[in-house]
Amino acid sequence: MTKKTVTAQYPEVQPQLPPRSRGVIGLLEENCTVCMLCARECPDWCIYIDSHKETLPAADPNARARTRNVLDRFAIDFSLCMYCGICIEVCPFDALFWSPEFEYAETDILELTHEREKLREWMWTVPAPPALDPAAEEPKEIAAARKAADKLAAASGGDGA
Ligand code: SF4
Ligand code: SF4
Repeated sequence: MTKKTVTAQYPEVQPQLPPRSRGVIGLLEENCTVCMLCARECPDWCIYIDSHKETLPAADPNARARTRNVLDRFAIDFSLCMYCGICIEVCPFDALFWSPEFEYAETDILELTHEREKLREWMWTVPAPPALDPAAEEPKEIAAARKAADKLAAASGGDGA
């Protein structure tokens, strides 16, 4: 209220948005296991996922063949999305991210349903995660890996002595 009002000259001048703005949702397809959690939790039901099952032959003759889900379609209808971020929060495999990209307006509402190729492209605009707090506790996985590596190094050192 104490600042002077300034008219932003968009699109001639790009706005200075915070890097973590909720512009659009990017999909890191490699991480998606087709668990369907995001689609089930989306309050607008605007995530469309299709998949099929694939059988992988067992590596060992005594083992059973394994099945896995293969993603056929992943699309988000941004004409319905309300940018709540629930899908990103619930994804257990870190496959969905906020991108600050916001220039995807369309003249036809049907064009606002974006398919996985476009969602994958937006991943390139997702900012890198902030640096870890140097005083933070070491993640359990890294601590366990370090312990195993130290044990291995000690064992091989013992052999060489
Ligand atoms: S941000 Fe919210 S409304 Fe949009 S797709 Fe994700 S869960 Fe659905
Ligand atoms: S919650 Fe994540 S892993 Fe599961 S279907 Fe959605 S994007 Fe894929």
